[in-house]
Amino acid sequence: MTEIYPTKIETKVIHEGYDSEKHSGSLAPPIFQTSTFTFETAEQGEKRFAGEEEGYIYTRLGNPTVTMLEERMAALEQGEAALAFSSGMAAVSAILFGLTKTGDHILCSQGVYGCTFGLLEMMDQKYKISHNFSAMESREQLLQALRPETACIYVETPINPTMKLVDLQMIAEVGKEKGIPVVVDNTFCSPYLQNPIKFGCDAVIHSATKYICGHGDVIAGIAVGRKEFIGKIAMTTQKDIGGVISPFDAWLLLRGLKTLAVRMDRHCDNAAKLADYLVSHPKVANVFYPGDEQNPDFQIAQKQMRKPGGLISFTLNGNKATAQAFMNELKLIKIAVSLGDAETLIQHPATMTHAVVPKESREEMGIDDTLLRLSVGLESWEDIRNDLEQAFNHI
Ligand code: PLP
Repeated sequence: MTEIYPTKIETKVIHEGYDSEKHSGSLAPPIFQTSTFTFETAEQGEKRFAGEEEGYIYTRLGNPTVTMLEERMAALEQGEAALAFSSGMAAVSAILFGLTKTGDHILCSQGVYGCTFGLLEMMDQKYKISHNFSAMESREQLLQALRPETACIYVETPINPTMKLVDLQMIAEVGKEKGIPVVVDNTFCSPYLQNPIKFGCDAVIHSATKYICGHGDVIAGIAVGRKEFIGKIAMTTQKDIGGVISPFDAWLLLRGLKTLAVRMDRHCDNAAKLADYLVSHPKVANVFYPGDEQNPDFQIAQKQMRKPGGLISFTLNGNKATAQAFMNELKLIKIAVSLGDAETLIQHPATMTHAVVPKESREEMGIDDTLLRLSVGLESWEDIRNDLEQAFNHI
């Protein structure tokens, strides 16, 4: 058979990291549901532990099904290597603890996922690893926010849930100049919409629970970066803290990834139509969507995102009670945190994903009590719009 190396992401999501010919022709990858691996001899075991012979040892240190997922994810994010975790937070914490020590500082985008915020607070209180936030709107603003002890620049773009963007190329350039690694949480985009490593960033993190899985049935995380860095994380904060993925969950992610491109196209098409609808709705105060030409970050979105994504945040005219009443009237759209699933989901960040963030910090991030985050699903966009419309009619 002529080997045609997959060059396009639509092909890579299906083929990369797996060769059926090496697995008895099985079209679907096998699940190596094992905790440990046998050695032919005691000497072989010794060599594997000493790193003198390639091969599996124990699933916390690596597993063939997990390797397939990691190879596919590394290719999709255009990185050298990837590491799969038991959750997105296991990936975030392994990377942040891996890059820092007591006395260091982490510079973050103006807004991060609520549990990432909680982790940063804990790192500060228990280990004296400090952090602060910057809008990173210009090179000057970013340079001003850096400190001599800054050991990592940590960025979400789009930021959860305000949908503000940061310029990845600008941040990567500053990181390189100053010798500070830039880590990007790419959860909101998936590798189909944005590849931070291509812009010079050092590492990418995903809550694979979201678009990578795509079906709302797995909690998992991924980190991608240079081989040496990922290898170090594998043998330190992952091996010894232990947030590894199960082979079955890795298999579910390999399965979910096959449809990533078609799913993302549909999420994005639906979101574009719904954003237009929300912008013109009299009960909506503001819409935050990277595809909106009025959005101050529109040019950044055009530069670094293939499409504007499947998430829309919006505020209502009213107060917290108005937002909650609106959610309670929805019939098709489910009230749930998480995103990137087939079902359209809505959540209230101030009382849900970002409830752990103190009110003052929430307001600095731009999260007010009427802000709602809509993860647009794969249903007919008209059905989603009709559900929103009937709920608006009740408030
Ligand atoms: N990063 C972002 C942007 C998220 O939205 C989430 C979860 O919602 C996480 C990280 C954490 O991922 P997980 O829930 O898989 O641990």
